[in-house]
Amino acid sequence: MFETGERPYRLARRQAFGSRTVVTVGAVRIGGPEPVIIGGPCSVESREQIRESAHAVKAAGAHLLRGGAFKPRTSPYHFQGLGIEGLQLLAAAGEEVDLPVITEVMEPGEVETVAHFADILQIGSRNMHNTPLLQAAARNSRQRPILLKRGFAATIDEWLCAAEYILVAGNPNVILCERGVRGFDARYTRNLLDLACVPLLHELTHLPIVVDPSHGTGQRLLIPTMARAAVACGADGLMIEMHPCPDTALSDAAQALDAQTFAVLCREVRSLYITLQRLQEEVLCTSH
Ligand code: PEP
Ligand code: MN
Repeated sequence: MFETGERPYRLARRQAFGSRTVVTVGAVRIGGPEPVIIGGPCSVESREQIRESAHAVKAAGAHLLRGGAFKPRTSPYHFQGLGIEGLQLLAAAGEEVDLPVITEVMEPGEVETVAHFADILQIGSRNMHNTPLLQAAARNSRQRPILLKRGFAATIDEWLCAAEYILVAGNPNVILCERGVRGFDARYTRNLLDLACVPLLHELTHLPIVVDPSHGTGQRLLIPTMARAAVACGADGLMIEMHPCPDTALSDAAQALDAQTFAVLCREVRSLYITLQRLQEEVLCTSH
């Protein structure tokens, strides 16, 4: 299946590895049977904001806390993140609720600092092609896993080649994150969420795949439905932006869920997972 000649990546190929990669962070297993939920605000804004978010994410039963400290903003006039202070606040909030944390790293020179505070390093969509950053992040001295977001105009091969840079540099713990690609109808959706890439990637690679319907749609209204769709098509996890007071968020307010909507979504994802498992068992029983 999908054997269309020589591929430009090797270690990322599904056949290169006997089984699927499971990335372990504390008690959390990304790529195991159960979908993992990463929740939190787009940006860390203040101690109170990230603490409240952390408590909401924990109470909802999600598995990891997110929050950007170094923000790749399109306009230089928009909030750029709190930097190192943001990292400290995120780490403290994660520790308080006993959740591992993930945050973006934007520069090779900041890799060690970010790896000091974060359990997973995120490489953002705008940096997927930044090979010196991929290599530096891969070689972080704490061997933190890397969540690699898809470039917003990247093909699947380009994305897997970016993952290959991390694998070649000696870090086997790569998580792919589909976050939508540039579409042609930004009036309604910020990006075009490519869910077909999930079953496709499960054929092409052993690496786990997380779906981010927040950046993938840009609209709060669409996020719960697309999150459930992502789980139904086999995503190993979800990354969802939430905020204690969504309309006041300093970045990506239009796509921030409130704590209650986030909690309902987490419950729905759990029951959907159980239903899908049952369905799969039934299919297995009737086909034997
Ligand atoms: C983010 O996750 O906060 C982010 C900036 O996402 P992306 O790189 O997908 O735009
Ligand atoms: Mn965001």
